[in-house]
Amino acid sequence: MRSLWDDREAEACGSELELRVYSSRLLGRDKSLVLHGGGNTSVKIAETNLFGEEEEILYVKGSGWDLETIAAAGFAPVRLDHLKKLAQLPALPDTEMVNQLVTHQTRAAAPLPSVEAILHAILPYSYVDHTHADAIVSITNTADGEARIREIYGDDVVVIPYVMPGFDLARLCAGRFAAEAGPKTIGMVLLNHGIFSFGQSAKESYQRMIALVGRAEEYLRRRGAWEVALPAAPAAHSVELAREQAKLRADISGAAGFPMIVARHADGRSLSFARRSDAGTIARQGPATPDHVIRTKRLPMLGRDAAAYTEEYKKYFQIHEPQAKERKTMLDAAPRVVLDGELGLCAAGRSAQDAAIVADIYHHTIDIILRATALGGYRALPAKDVFDVEYWDLEQAKLRKGGKPAAFAGEVALVTGAASGIGKACVEALLARGAAVAALDLSEQVATMKSGANFFGLRCDLTSEEHFRRALAQAVEKFGGLDMLVLNAGIFPGGCRIEALKTEEWQKVMRINLDANLMLMRECHPFLKLAPRGGRVVVIGSKNVPAPGPGAAAYSASKAALNQLARVAALEWGADNIRINSLHPNAVFDTGLWTPEVLAARAKHYGLTVDEYKKNNVLKTEVTSKDVAELAAEMCGPLFAKTTGAWLPVDGGNDRVI
Ligand code: ZN
Repeated sequence: MRSLWDDREAEACGSELELRVYSSRLLGRDKSLVLHGGGNTSVKIAETNLFGEEEEILYVKGSGWDLETIAAAGFAPVRLDHLKKLAQLPALPDTEMVNQLVTHQTRAAAPLPSVEAILHAILPYSYVDHTHADAIVSITNTADGEARIREIYGDDVVVIPYVMPGFDLARLCAGRFAAEAGPKTIGMVLLNHGIFSFGQSAKESYQRMIALVGRAEEYLRRRGAWEVALPAAPAAHSVELAREQAKLRADISGAAGFPMIVARHADGRSLSFARRSDAGTIARQGPATPDHVIRTKRLPMLGRDAAAYTEEYKKYFQIHEPQAKERKTMLDAAPRVVLDGELGLCAAGRSAQDAAIVADIYHHTIDIILRATALGGYRALPAKDVFDVEYWDLEQAKLRKGGKPAAFAGEVALVTGAASGIGKACVEALLARGAAVAALDLSEQVATMKSGANFFGLRCDLTSEEHFRRALAQAVEKFGGLDMLVLNAGIFPGGCRIEALKTEEWQKVMRINLDANLMLMRECHPFLKLAPRGGRVVVIGSKNVPAPGPGAAAYSASKAALNQLARVAALEWGADNIRINSLHPNAVFDTGLWTPEVLAARAKHYGLTVDEYKKNNVLKTEVTSKDVAELAAEMCGPLFAKTTGAWLPVDGGNDRVI
């Protein structure tokens, strides 16, 4: 454990709350302490209210904020006196507790305070820090975890047996702390859950956290349970494995009832963990700390039998639900973590971001399991306790807060010619609808043109089958499959009459505008066939299909042949639940092809102003890349669910087409 505290940075903080932000972020930066919304922190500050009275306010982490990126606005200010009074009650139902926290804040726009707010309130220190440190849960998730913790810390910490977070835990901690804390006490270990440290300054509380967790790490090291080696399995990547992964994704999405991203992590460590002969025991105990359950589910799926996993999940629900205080509705029964000897670790989520969080948590879980195993055996909480957290109203609320999923949440699109013009606009339209997008382009720029977990930009030469297959396998490895394909890449060579058209020029246009798309369709078909909601292909054609132009023989013929290819695909692929439709844009000028100079020259050629030239159509309207892209995205959506083999102009109305 290394302290990241920097006195100079701390001195730059202008207030206690800023210091609280500073040291919370230090905790958040260390993934072995907190992961994705885990952990929480607080500070107690005396403030003068409107009436000139002084009152103590507990600033406690608000739900929905990550410690790593928290800001002052992420702390909920709750009146401390009221919280201390609540802690005296013999009982307080969860919903009333939340109501009390929300109605005793001093800022209407503050986030919902952490459900551990009362626990923070009862500890008589200005600063309180709470993490789910890997080293602590590695030790406490063992048969003799409590004895080990007492051996490591003696009187320095108060030990709390496992109780579900919320009011009961706060009450228990209040009682134990009052009875057991002594002059040496600097923290509190919550068995199977995590650790608290506290102090009168931000630095003191933070340094105590680092020191306490450091002692746990040292203990593991002394017992040879810190560096846990796994035999290195060589990472495996291939188109065949990509197909297996896409099948797995189809099964998982089927079990969930909605499409899911399934990211594969075929690193040597994940693979060799999945291949351990004792994986069936050590990986099937439960999560390292109960709040992981809402991300990872209680157990990973070993192998690829999603139906068996679903059955087992339903049984788990049927066994534990009757014991709950109020009736529960079963969540989807699909796994979030898959361990497979061939595929490695696969992480499932409704978005690439969710899947990445699952993978992060499970990578840490692997280390925790291996360390606990090295200590003598990993033993997680009983299933009932994990169920209580998974189906806890307050945890469910966190998930519900996400709202209605986006139209293409959990779906994957591949766009060609994605670095500029219509292709780039298609990437944006699909991302905006929640899809994960693999963007392919000949230009290097494609790799960095967007950020975020849902975007994957790949340089790819579509005239090379080998190149494309590799890109497709990479995209599938990242997202799990393919639901939508936008065939956009194409070239428009300069005008040339037939009598002067060279065979090589003709063939070059055909190779890119036609042959490459046949190859793309053929290679993508097995994946599109597995799309949970059916595969969709959108062809970006051209007005030149219904209304060819002189001097554009190769271009017009290539787009017309592509149009016919799409119609045949519509006939052949309907039975595979894949629909394919074409768009015929015209005069889209906001692309790389059209510089202001070229545009001015063309307008002059027709005796028009640039504006008149741009709107030279029946509706007198300008057609942009975005207009085309929005329609392409809609063609993949429910509005066009019953349309295939169609071709639709997007050109402002063209008298030759009409
Ligand atoms: Zn916690």
